[in-house]
Amino acid sequence: MHVAVLGAGTMGHGIAQVSAMAGHDVWMRDVEREFVDDGLDAIESNLQGGVERDKLTEAEKEATLERISGTTSLEEAVGDAEVVIEAVPEQMEIKQETFADVESHVADGTIIASNTSSLSLTEIASALDRPDRAVGLHFFNPVHIMELVEIVVAEQTSDQTLERAREFVEGIDRTPVEVTDSPGFASSRLGVALGVEAMRMVQEGVASPEDIDAAMELGYNHPQGPIALGDVVGLDVRLDILEHLREELGERFRPPQILKRKVRAGKLGKKTGEGFYLWENGEIVGTSGDWGDDQ
Ligand code: NAD
Repeated sequence: MHVAVLGAGTMGHGIAQVSAMAGHDVWMRDVEREFVDDGLDAIESNLQGGVERDKLTEAEKEATLERISGTTSLEEAVGDAEVVIEAVPEQMEIKQETFADVESHVADGTIIASNTSSLSLTEIASALDRPDRAVGLHFFNPVHIMELVEIVVAEQTSDQTLERAREFVEGIDRTPVEVTDSPGFASSRLGVALGVEAMRMVQEGVASPEDIDAAMELGYNHPQGPIALGDVVGLDVRLDILEHLREELGERFRPPQILKRKVRAGKLGKKTGEGFYLWENGEIVGTSGDWGDDQ
């Protein structure tokens, strides 16, 4: 099958890689040649890592790379595609513009998918003349490692599109879950609900971040506790999602003061070296002293 991936960034190159590994011919498109080349380099380096860890052979790596072409031309990328997946920046205007541009270049039967992690798919799909072909394919980062894909069903998505989306996801060795288009889909809504309660518990002095994380890691087998995960994702990103979910779903997603204060202080987690934890070279080296003293 011919697959087009739009955007060669963090998610786009990963989606291109797993599609090509499953035997599809992939066109990966970005707006500048430099971004396309960066995406291709990232794929090569992921595959090389796989060879070194004996996950795939040198021949499989070469064959996968041969199935991926990079381009800056939208027409070239999507012209023969049966499935188009956009992974362009998370802004409604860009998503809608991309969907409409794609539709003007593809055949009637082509599925047009979005990797949006938070926007309304129903609204993105409304940019199409034939919105029944729109669907969400929400991959997780890093795409070549994470098994889950949320299939997001817009108001307009047809049964046939949904069925083909499911076949596509299973065909690239991923496990689909089906979610109606709604704020936070399934994954972010539940993940953030756990994270926000954990932050409230730190704020109320119920337990330290380490003990809350240990409780979920050792007691519930989570690979990483909710407080550490928030630091990894970025506390500013968490705050944005919470504000969006609060607006859409109500007060249970109200961001706690402790989170707002950390974001205002520029303590955004792993990326700035301090959040709920202190970080050095990507590792936790201590707990931030700044917690547990207000409500
Ligand atoms: P990114 O910034 O790494 O990559 C986006 C790429 O799109 C950039 O290279 C940019 O040059 C390119 N681009 C911009 N306009 C374009 C166009 N019209 N056509 C083709 N390419 C274009 O972003 P990302 O992290 O890969 O996120 C992409 C999408 O995936 C967003 O919707 C995001 O919400 C979603 N997502 C991200 C993650 C994550 O962890 N990063 C996880 C799940 C979903």
